[in-house]
Amino acid sequence: MTQPVDEGFEALRSEIAAWVAGPGEDYAQRIEDTGSVPGELFGELRDRGYLSLAAPERLGGRGIPFSRYLELMEIFSRSHASIRMLVHVINGTWRAMDPFMTDEQRERFVVPSVKGEKLVAFTLTEATAGTGADLRTTVRREGDTYYLNGEKHLITFGVTCDWWLLGARLEGSSGKEGTLAIMVPNTGLPGAEVIDDSQTMGVHGTDHAILRFHDTPVPVPNRVGEEGQGLEVLLGGFLLPSRVSVAMSCVGLAERAQELAVQYAQRRETFGRKIAERQAIQFFLAENYADIQAARALVLEAARAYEDGAPHADVLSSASKMVAVDMLTRVTDKALQIHGGQGYWKRNPIERVYRDARAQRFEEGTNEIQKLVVARAVLTGRV
Ligand SMILES: Cc1cc2nc3c(=O)[nH]c(=O)nc-3n(C[C@H](O)[C@H](O)[C@H](O)COP(=O)(O)OP(=O)(O)OC[C@H]3O[C@@H](n4cnc5c(N)ncnc54)[C@H](O)[C@@H]3O)c2cc1C
Repeated sequence: MTQPVDEGFEALRSEIAAWVAGPGEDYAQRIEDTGSVPGELFGELRDRGYLSLAAPERLGGRGIPFSRYLELMEIFSRSHASIRMLVHVINGTWRAMDPFMTDEQRERFVVPSVKGEKLVAFTLTEATAGTGADLRTTVRREGDTYYLNGEKHLITFGVTCDWWLLGARLEGSSGKEGTLAIMVPNTGLPGAEVIDDSQTMGVHGTDHAILRFHDTPVPVPNRVGEEGQGLEVLLGGFLLPSRVSVAMSCVGLAERAQELAVQYAQRRETFGRKIAERQAIQFFLAENYADIQAARALVLEAARAYEDGAPHADVLSSASKMVAVDMLTRVTDKALQIHGGQGYWKRNPIERVYRDARAQRFEEGTNEIQKLVVARAVLTGRV
């Protein structure tokens, strides 16, 4: 990217690259071996300041501009998906909370999250509803208390978090008007059931939860924004940069897949020659390179549009995610193909990269949903 390179930033980028390639890889192996994220990994990410890169200084963050932060996200994404997930989520959740919170709430919820002292889980998806205005989890207000009823699932960090930033709707309402966002403490509240549901295909180590609420009392002052603003908090300004960040995660992980494919192709010999000398393999590598560069350019374009407040920034955000996840699918598939049957075995890192990549097609909305956003803009002449 053609931005002036600041010396401090360059040093930070090199430090992160060294950490990802060194201790990060050791942690990746431990996570795969044990199926859980070691407690000290979270502590290390926090103490190194990697969880507070993107938040502004007024919230205790390091205030790195978005497109520069993405360059760091690209590097973290070459690492284990759980490391990438921790960095992506904690560097992003403040964006949903900050614009809607009172000063008192900011001190209580946002600052401790940015500092890595408290973990906030983004809690929206439901098993029996579509993500968005279709929400079915409800609250009923009685005085200063909301009583929460409903079920959430697929919630990353939902087991171990301190707070669920949760989307619900006022009982009896429909559409986006009745929605609200609320901070629900994960402290064994009455009627709250937390089910560990972490047996996933990839992204091993990160916990995921099914949550059930039955008349669970939550104080009204924990509400984020007003009644009716739930979708604005949870999907509004937050989703746009977050989709671009996921798109850049795809670029970083694709780069890792390509690196592994190149190394393997230069090592593996068949019929007396390295497979890297075969045109079929060279074509895979060339296609991967071009695919990655094209997606990266679009992701950075989307990041600049967001930073400049461009009116079509949301469209570019969805478009960049669409292109980047499809690219990642192709690149990881070809990288695995280059490994031959070996690549299917867990002892080879490409096996994990391939599994982890698949999750990115769901995060922050599937491509089918991104296409709806883009098509609407195309058909109404917004782009
Ligand atoms: C690893 C991982 C971590 C996650 N972490 C979180 C988290 O922390 N918090 C959270 O809230 N959620 C989380 N999710 C859930 C994720 O956001 C959803 O899986 C995603 O938004 C898709 O929603 P769904 O699973 O309900 O799919 P569904 O909505 O059931 O969709 C099923 C299929 O139908 C398509 N479809 C659905 N609606 C439409 C439509 N209107 N038009 C056309 N096609 C449609 C979809 O594209 C998909 O192909 C996570 C998911 C994964 C895989």
